[in-house]
Amino acid sequence: MPSSDTSRPCKRCKAENAPFRLRKDPACRDCFVQYVVNKMIKRLGAMHKDIRVSRLPVHRRYLAGLSYGPSSSVLAQILDETAHRHSTNKASSPFEPIIVHIDTDLSPQGGESPARKLLEEYRQRFLHATFECVPLSDVLSVKSIDWSTLPLDAGTPDEDPAARLRRLFDALPTVTSRADILRQLVRHLLLHTAIERSCSALLLGHSTTALAALTLSEVANGRGFAVPLQVADGMTTVCKYETTPDGAVQETSRLEFPVYYPLREIFRNEMLQYIDLVPSLKEVVPSNEADATSNVVSHKDMSIEEVMARYFQSVEEGYSGIVANVVRTTGKLDRSQGDSFCGSCGMSLDAEGDSRWAGEIGDDSGHGSGSGGVSRLCYGCKRSIHG
Ligand SMILES: [Zn+2]
Ligand SMILES: [Zn+2]
Repeated sequence: MPSSDTSRPCKRCKAENAPFRLRKDPACRDCFVQYVVNKMIKRLGAMHKDIRVSRLPVHRRYLAGLSYGPSSSVLAQILDETAHRHSTNKASSPFEPIIVHIDTDLSPQGGESPARKLLEEYRQRFLHATFECVPLSDVLSVKSIDWSTLPLDAGTPDEDPAARLRRLFDALPTVTSRADILRQLVRHLLLHTAIERSCSALLLGHSTTALAALTLSEVANGRGFAVPLQVADGMTTVCKYETTPDGAVQETSRLEFPVYYPLREIFRNEMLQYIDLVPSLKEVVPSNEADATSNVVSHKDMSIEEVMARYFQSVEEGYSGIVANVVRTTGKLDRSQGDSFCGSCGMSLDAEGDSRWAGEIGDDSGHGSGSGGVSRLCYGCKRSIHG
């Protein structure tokens, strides 16, 4: 954000030309850019210490989600730059970012999708990262979801996967639940791809602002119990489900996988300013975010997620301390984990039973009729899937 007071020098390097404002202090262009990069590099370093299994230099292969929004684009650009720096420094271990966009376009395919075209633009600008476009329909083969909990027609497994997913979304009761389930499926597919590619962590580009919005929309969606674990950096449990010959679904294994948010200390407005200052990003990041978001969810109605996102974007500038506090306080909440996990979103189930969430929010649904696996859903997913 350009500062109104341009007479003061840069707080960090004392340069005279300091037209930007960084946490209330004047900043020059270079110090602003360096601030964002350093914040992320610091978090990546902390993550490396957290997850490494040996003190010897290791090959670092990370998978990062790219939605084409500002934050995940900044994540991709800084990862690319980091990979470049590692490749020119002979003493450092290999650093290999794999950037994955999940293409949520489920309309019948004709030619190259807009998401693939846009990914090509990113690929041409960021030469030290690998880019991949994965269709959302690939999620149907992902075993970390107990598919019997979702309204997926089991009778037509050979049909076009995109058509099957379209019907699944059509069967969901509200815009909010479609947005909610879509986000869960994207997260499952990113985790699945990260594990499949032997990556050592999944990186998500959420800003402080996005994490605050995620926190409150998860509470509103009835998943308050899982919020501390979901918003914090660290291990997430990935269960694997198989259908037994008699048609029952069983959890067959589970593993722990690291999920980190390396841009968690940067506000959304700072992200936008950063993009404006870095030409490779400015050229490629779509300015109209509606283009980048999913068309599974109708734009006419807003989901709780969108309402929260817009709310936090609007209060961020004036109340950045409060926005940061939502995330910081959540990080300090009890991270106790139940022993069983929701078959849909994969979040830990409340050990004391999620009837207490139902009690708080009001369980007014008559779910359960003819739908298998309801007991393996958290309260939030019950509401999303069955209304
Ligand atoms: Zn400076
Ligand atoms: Zn759930």
